[in-house]
Amino acid sequence: MIRLSKPNISEEAIQEIIKVIRSGYLVQGRYVNDFEESICNYLNIKNAVVVSSGTAALHLALMVLSIKDGDEVIVPAFTFPATANVVELVGAKPVFVDINLTDYCIDITKIEDKINPRTKAIIPVHEFGQAAKMDDIINIAEKYNLKVIEDAACALGAEFNGRKVGTFGEMGCFSFHPRKAITTGEGGVIVTNNDEVSSKLRMLRNHGISNIDGKTDFIVAGLNYRMTDFQAALGFYQMKTLENEITHRVKMAQEYGKQLSNIKWIKTPEIFKDRRMVYQTYHILIDGYIRRNSLIQYLKKHDIEANIGAHALNCTKYYREKHNLIYDDNPNALISYKRGLALPMGSHISLNDIREISKYILKWGVDYEN
Ligand SMILES: *Cc1c(COP(=O)(O)O)cnc(C)c1O
Repeated sequence: MIRLSKPNISEEAIQEIIKVIRSGYLVQGRYVNDFEESICNYLNIKNAVVVSSGTAALHLALMVLSIKDGDEVIVPAFTFPATANVVELVGAKPVFVDINLTDYCIDITKIEDKINPRTKAIIPVHEFGQAAKMDDIINIAEKYNLKVIEDAACALGAEFNGRKVGTFGEMGCFSFHPRKAITTGEGGVIVTNNDEVSSKLRMLRNHGISNIDGKTDFIVAGLNYRMTDFQAALGFYQMKTLENEITHRVKMAQEYGKQLSNIKWIKTPEIFKDRRMVYQTYHILIDGYIRRNSLIQYLKKHDIEANIGAHALNCTKYYREKHNLIYDDNPNALISYKRGLALPMGSHISLNDIREISKYILKWGVDYEN
């Protein structure tokens, strides 16, 4: 089976995890600090706070900004549900904005229509590892005095105008789930240049604990969103090979482009001169007359794993019913949800795999038309 994605964990990392477990210091030890420092260096940012998941990272980011009941937060309609769920969970309302079919990120021309006095923040998503248009998003946020939390869960290493995503907004959130470029099993991180925000995040991930002049007290209602030290060791070792991982993914994406871009019923990802795409997912759009779901089944029969890319959140039962949303409110999100296809990508994929996958896709198209 050619898997959709597969973690790339070195023997060195596995040996180090064994050492951590033998040491008996399992939670928030030396490796948590080392991992945080390596993330700061890589992104060129002052603070990194590792937590138990990408969702936990987004949740804490909203808590730190005191976003609450009565507030609204702008979220792209096409993303993983966690982006909007955390807004619901702090009692605020996610307001969905449609995406572009070129980069699958929020359509900046549609944001201002959704802003009102209740709007407090924008959460742009760097979907599939492609940077959203951060210059325009920051301009809109400044104009209306909104905070920006970047959902960079799948975009570690992606760049906009030569700057790493996650570093443009007040906070940037990343995930280390096994589907992402580096993984700690479950895990995430919040990055920020704001020291005060950083110390509040540290407090909130650790039960609201504060240590002033040697005196320990609990000064907010926090959570336990800490990362274990063996997970941090896993992340720390993968940071060393992250750039190789991205280089490999870019090369594989070029091969997909070569093989697939001439097929008339397929739209391959666009390449933007001002952005660095890291291809967390290689996502194509299938023309309306070809049935995407039967293509998924066909590929599976030939031992190739493929899946839908992301969800149109206004179409999910929860958001449709809770906020009275219309199914085709965000047409581009709906198109991407219905016709998008994620193909295998990662260090486990070779040029030959891509030729094989492409051969079957092409054959499917010819059979379908005849
Ligand atoms: C993966 C992902 C998340 C959630 O991260 P977890 O670590 O699985 O909690 C949130 N947003 C986006 C865009 C993601 O891709």
